[in-house]
Amino acid sequence: MPIVKAKVEKYNNDLKGVVSYNNKDYTLDNLIVGEEVELEISKDQSRVSLKKVLTESVNRIKPECGIYSKCGGCSLLHIKYQEQLKIKTTFVENLFFETFNKYYKVNDCLGMKEPWHYRNKNQIVFKNVKGGKSRIASGFYEASSHNVVEFETCAVQDELSDKIVGIIKELMIKMRYNAFDEDRGTGLIRHVLIKRSASTKEVMVVIVTGSEIFPGCQNFVKALTSRCKDITTIIQNVNNRKTSAVLGDKEKVLYGKGFITDILLGKKFKISAKSFYQINSSQCEVLYTKALELANLSKNDILFDAYCGVGTIGLIASDKVNKVISVELVKDAVSDAIQNAKMNNIKNVHFFCDDASNFMKNMAVKKEKVDVLIMDPPRKGSDERFLNAAIKLSPKKIVYISCDPRTQVIDLKHLLSNGYQITAIQPVDMFPHTSHIENIVCLSKK
Ligand code: SAH
Repeated sequence: MPIVKAKVEKYNNDLKGVVSYNNKDYTLDNLIVGEEVELEISKDQSRVSLKKVLTESVNRIKPECGIYSKCGGCSLLHIKYQEQLKIKTTFVENLFFETFNKYYKVNDCLGMKEPWHYRNKNQIVFKNVKGGKSRIASGFYEASSHNVVEFETCAVQDELSDKIVGIIKELMIKMRYNAFDEDRGTGLIRHVLIKRSASTKEVMVVIVTGSEIFPGCQNFVKALTSRCKDITTIIQNVNNRKTSAVLGDKEKVLYGKGFITDILLGKKFKISAKSFYQINSSQCEVLYTKALELANLSKNDILFDAYCGVGTIGLIASDKVNKVISVELVKDAVSDAIQNAKMNNIKNVHFFCDDASNFMKNMAVKKEKVDVLIMDPPRKGSDERFLNAAIKLSPKKIVYISCDPRTQVIDLKHLLSNGYQITAIQPVDMFPHTSHIENIVCLSKK
């Protein structure tokens, strides 16, 4: 197969390096723009593989992770952190330029001082390993497959979680628990989900089992809590479906109160096993602080918090405004949100469980007053029904928080052609070392 030289020209949407050869683009892992590389290209030019990097970028570093090449999660670990932030800022800048054919200033992506072990939610899968001595392996699923990539420590997961997984593995061997086998539907433990609050130090361990029967579970809980005193609650979650989702519907509290509490910007939040909660608490404070600063709220304002999850943004903003209306689709998240309001003694936030677009449309029909809209939809973005209703309600400001700027710009296009203008663009690094980008856009009425 021919060996050729090429230069890394740009990044693709997943921040992988793109090289051009014979007018054809090829995407490759583990590259940095500007690097010259040697590639092996198949005769029909359909496949390329990297032979070596000929001139390394000054931003290249050795990834501080044993499973970097297999896991696929932290795909930017070979790039200095400050450069990762620049790459994310430039990505957003280019995306806005390509979409709107106009240059928008993008503020520098706000990063972490210590971008390690930031995840407050850690998910691990178990696998039986055959061989001389029967043992259990634990790790992540390899990117887009169900192969398990084994690891003991991870650069971005919580360090205590790694320790707890090690203890669980030892207990599984001792108590003769097998890992759940997806294909055969046999075995006991499927996954472990660990959530930990850095502010309150509370730790939740969720043992996901393939069936309801958990033999010797009392002994297991006793052994686990005596070996790790930091654990404050243990839950059994039953997932007996053939699915790639980690959690099933059924839940049983085995130890403690069944949830943990986290503190964000001075307010307390209940974290349960199933509800959505931002996985990087310290950057979440940066994100919300920036979003609320851009919203520039005043005491008489009515704030609408759409896609509110467990109510975090609206509850944090509640003392800056007259009233907050918050809407969320998932029932469990809404009940958590209501409890969060009670826990913080907040009375001016009203929660509704509904599809945000439906709810917004009804608000528009009733011509309700909204001064500021903060929206934080899931990855796929919002939809025309929501946006049209928002345009009718005509808030003076819209702060759009997105975990995928590519879907965000599609929604922004609609708002820009209906009387709104962009006043600020602020990426925030919620997921250091990964290709994910969180972006806040502030819009005001023309
Ligand atoms: N603002 C929250 C949650 C953001 S994640 C936070 O910062 O924590 C997006 C949320 O939108 C999730 O809680 C998800 O359940 C919710 N959601 C998804 N589709 C929705 C819809 N159609 N209507 C309302 N909420 C929805």
